[in-house]
Amino acid sequence: MTDLTSFIAGLPKAELHVHHVGSASPRIVAELAARHEGSSPVPTDPAALEKYFEFHDFAHFIEVYLSVVDLIRDAEDIRLLTYEIARELSRQQVRYAELTVTPYSSVRRGIPAPAFCEAIEDARAGARRDFGLELAWCFDIPGEAGLPSAEETLRIALEQRPDGLVSFGLGGPEIGVPRPQFKPYFDKARAAGLHSVPHAGETTGPETIWDAIRELGAERIGHGIAAAQDERLMAYLAEHQIPLEVCPTSNLRTRAVADLAEHPIGRLVAAGVPISVNSDDPPMFGTTLEQEYAVAAGLLGLDTAGVAELARDAVRHSFRSDAGKAELLAEIDAYHENYG
Ligand SMILES: [Zn+2]
Repeated sequence: MTDLTSFIAGLPKAELHVHHVGSASPRIVAELAARHEGSSPVPTDPAALEKYFEFHDFAHFIEVYLSVVDLIRDAEDIRLLTYEIARELSRQQVRYAELTVTPYSSVRRGIPAPAFCEAIEDARAGARRDFGLELAWCFDIPGEAGLPSAEETLRIALEQRPDGLVSFGLGGPEIGVPRPQFKPYFDKARAAGLHSVPHAGETTGPETIWDAIRELGAERIGHGIAAAQDERLMAYLAEHQIPLEVCPTSNLRTRAVADLAEHPIGRLVAAGVPISVNSDDPPMFGTTLEQEYAVAAGLLGLDTAGVAELARDAVRHSFRSDAGKAELLAEIDAYHENYG
């Protein structure tokens, strides 16, 4: 372990862009597969599962992702998945995480919305009690499922309003899924006090980010790396302090960037754009939040002080209460001061 790696490993952190199902590690998938043995193609043996998780290409990634989705069939699966994700985050010293959850997929598969929300809230209480981790939810619209999914996601958010819910999002593909059509749903979610956090500018250009800001009232942007192509947009993001949730390894795996060396994170930071570093779908992309901090440190040339500041920025950009932010910032300060 290098000095920086061990510093990152012990550093208290906040995670702002990580997906629920996309966080299912081989260990968690094995547990889910064991609950549904005989009715799923997913192997239950951990060694076989490691092989199953070796992606050949993006189509294979989608196939594996969907077979994991198929394992989430009842409220207990949801509770187990969420609680075990919290365990894995806490092992990386994550103290606060906004988990992007797609209730539409589960409700459409037959899990009633109240049972779904009860399951995630049960896991949230367990995470706080057992791991000292505070979870929060971003309910996101799966863009590829269109306006009916937006309607349903909004309905679940407003009718159930679980305690941990802080924001409203939009994920899935950007190509062929223009952001402005979702404006009425974001308007209602924002009117109800939810923060707006759509994905934009991951696989399409800066115009999608402008749309997310102008039409959806984005307060933070999922990915947003295409902003680096537009000086005016970078200046706008800097002036209005609209942070980007940057996930470097995800961008590499989905081919949004051809090579990590070409990743625009350095240009964004140089232009004063606020950023946090995040892991997106960590086991599926073969990464962890710790690994993303190491990658970002390499790209930005950061030492321990720089990495600590990166961790503070994630806390500052979060939707946690002011008291919760102050507590975590103080913990980061203390860790940094006492390190080495
Ligand atoms: Zn994402």
